[in-house]
Amino acid sequence: MMQQILRNEEDTKRFAQHFAHQNPTGSIWLSGDLGAGKTTFTRYLLLALGHTGAVKSPTYTLVEPYCIDGKPVYHADLYRLNDPEELDFIGFFEYFDEPNALVIIEWASRADGILPKPDWLIYIDRLDDDSRQIRLTKGQS
Ligand code: ADP
Ligand code: MG
Repeated sequence: MMQQILRNEEDTKRFAQHFAHQNPTGSIWLSGDLGAGKTTFTRYLLLALGHTGAVKSPTYTLVEPYCIDGKPVYHADLYRLNDPEELDFIGFFEYFDEPNALVIIEWASRADGILPKPDWLIYIDRLDDDSRQIRLTKGQS
């Protein structure tokens, strides 16, 4: 487990860049309250992986797909997931079978019983001074 205080967005960007250096594949679960910084971290991670365009929050679409230098990257936000069957319907589980793919999931707790176990777990807590505490653990998969 590794733990770090991110005093500002610049720190979050650096953390994302550091993480991107491992060329992550598989899935990442991002936990933390609304406004903790899950989407912000994801945005910096996508940029660090080489994405150059915009990064939209997938709150309403459930998933935003990217292809970064040939690498399939999916950014999901399951906050508004009503029925886990919606995931089947959009072909969500097929993402995990794509070679070299990375699936980043906010609010995985909405579907944790049916998702494959994550390769990384990231918890973000907003502290009283508005800094963020981030904890990264490697999954069991
Ligand atoms: P979430 O996806 O967890 O709901 P967002 O990433 O959408 O959260 O929002 C986080 C908000 O907190 C943004 O407005 C961002 O600018 C702000 N923020 C302040 N400090 C940080 C930090 N150190 N890391 C990430 N976001 C931060
Ligand atoms: Mg978000």
